[in-house]
Amino acid sequence: MDKEEAFKQLKRMNAKKILLQIPDGLKPQAFDIFNYFASDFNVIVSSSSFYGACDIGNREIYEGVDCIVQLGHTEIPNINYPLPVIFIEYYYNTIEIDDSTFDVLKSDGINKIGLLSSVQYYNEMLYIKDRLERNGFSVYVGKNDGRLKYPGQVLGCNFSTAHSVSLYVDAFLLISTGLFHGIGVQLSSDDRDVYILDLNDKKIHNIRHDTDIFLKKRYARMERALNAKRFCVVVDTKIGQYRMKIANEIYEKLKALNKNVIMTSADNINPADFENFMCDAIIFTGCPRVPIDDEEKFKMPVLTPTEFDLIFGFKKSKRYVMDEIVS
Ligand code: SF4
Repeated sequence: MDKEEAFKQLKRMNAKKILLQIPDGLKPQAFDIFNYFASDFNVIVSSSSFYGACDIGNREIYEGVDCIVQLGHTEIPNINYPLPVIFIEYYYNTIEIDDSTFDVLKSDGINKIGLLSSVQYYNEMLYIKDRLERNGFSVYVGKNDGRLKYPGQVLGCNFSTAHSVSLYVDAFLLISTGLFHGIGVQLSSDDRDVYILDLNDKKIHNIRHDTDIFLKKRYARMERALNAKRFCVVVDTKIGQYRMKIANEIYEKLKALNKNVIMTSADNINPADFENFMCDAIIFTGCPRVPIDDEEKFKMPVLTPTEFDLIFGFKKSKRYVMDEIVS
């Protein structure tokens, strides 16, 4: 939905007061967006950072609000939001790609491709699909589960679209920035090769080497947790990250291992808070990206639930997979 359509929808629902939620990258536009809606609505902009549609803040901040308008994210269909939420999606403009961009796939003998994108590149993905097919590739766009809105979409916590086609493809091509999603696809989907199309330099590269480096770093953290004595299990209170059942299961497993463990909650997990708990390791059940993206910020190892199960032997398979929140 764009902002004009959001405006009309707010009118239709007779909203009076709206709360704007803007991720950091779009905050420079906050004045324009505020003024656009303030012509007809009572608007307040949250200064918090919102990393995904899994997070609409705490109840206190939407007291008296008729509707939340969140920018830059796409709805997570299987979340029951406690009040109406409108998502204004942001897309990048389509960039022209030369056919020679795909030469690396041809020279690596790739024919059947699983095509994926993070949501801001969804239009790009449809364009690339057409270009790949014209160049003779067979393209598979995977089915989304209830946490994803679009076929082929990936989130940092959900690679279901990759799982649904991994048996049929030679490799995946992901349109995204950064490595996190690509590494997640590689580790979670029968270890197929993953290529990333970087739209800045219009080049495709294989990320297997990056995945190997990632694994080395994560195993070093996981092994440190193996020797830890005092653990904090953290349940995140964000509506789309709240996994109390998993947190309870981990707590029980740690008790059974004779570890000293406490249950804790957090909205935005803060490294300093956990230093004060004097714990040796944290198992974090919220956003799967946090233990990985923020690993340097914590003095102690912070593991995802799947890493915990792997290193402490609660998993039959010895294969590392990314933590996912599935429907
Ligand atoms: Fe994104 Fe993390 Fe939320 Fe998933 S849990 S939508 S990866 S912020």
